[in-house]
Amino acid sequence: MKYIGAHVSASGGVEFSPINAHEIGANAFALFTKNQRQWVSKPLTEESISLFRENCEKYSFLPDYILPHDSYLINLGHPEEEGLAKSRAAFLDEMQRCEQLGLKLLNFHPGSHLSKITVEACLDRIAESINFALNKTQGVTAVIENTAGQGTNLGNEFWQLKHIIDKVEDKTRVGVCLDTCHTFTAGYDFLSDYDQVFNDFEEQVGFEYLKGIHLNDSKKALGTRVDRHDSIGYGFIGNKFFEKVMKDPRFNNMPIILETPDESLWPQEIAWLRSVE
Ligand SMILES: [Zn+2]
Ligand SMILES: [Zn+2]
Repeated sequence: MKYIGAHVSASGGVEFSPINAHEIGANAFALFTKNQRQWVSKPLTEESISLFRENCEKYSFLPDYILPHDSYLINLGHPEEEGLAKSRAAFLDEMQRCEQLGLKLLNFHPGSHLSKITVEACLDRIAESINFALNKTQGVTAVIENTAGQGTNLGNEFWQLKHIIDKVEDKTRVGVCLDTCHTFTAGYDFLSDYDQVFNDFEEQVGFEYLKGIHLNDSKKALGTRVDRHDSIGYGFIGNKFFEKVMKDPRFNNMPIILETPDESLWPQEIAWLRSVE
């Protein structure tokens, strides 16, 4: 079975996100548990936490299909001590918020070397940062998102995801989220050879680590390493690919999340995806 939703708003409080997801016909969703553009946010209130749990139950959203996203400011591979410490503290706070909400997954972009350290050194730092957070929390899996490889962002090549996973101590609490726009603009040509790309993923990372999908079309062409999402069917990727994903059982039983730019299309996008499943 496919679990499809979108990255919905949590404005007014996290408790509104399951309501917003229900209204677009979703059975999965993503959210920010704090303001994604600020380092520090107020702790979640008891009321907000219990209403979130109530609303998830009311609308039948299971924690397995809820994929919170961390703040864009965090760089777990930061080359400098101060930036690294700040990022680790913020990431731990994000993990703890997930714990409080009874969530099982936290999605994040791996990090950037900022041209100050090597790719490998940065990947090692990211793994250490994950270990740091996992040691201080329970029950939440760190879900590394692949990237378009824009600027000095890492995680655009499958082997990099595996390099991080290999250095994470608790392999039961680390996973991967594949963003279709990022995969495509990172240079993986699943339009010409769908099987090859996902065979490569299986060989280099392994589907056992796949915990979620970000389903986005792309405003930019293959291999451009630019991260610009488009609505499903409107970009360079196109409907045929998304139809294949919907029919592929390897993507069953995980959150499939739209991060497409036109929110007004979400109900239609979800309905169309279900119609081709
Ligand atoms: Zn994404
Ligand atoms: Zn993106």
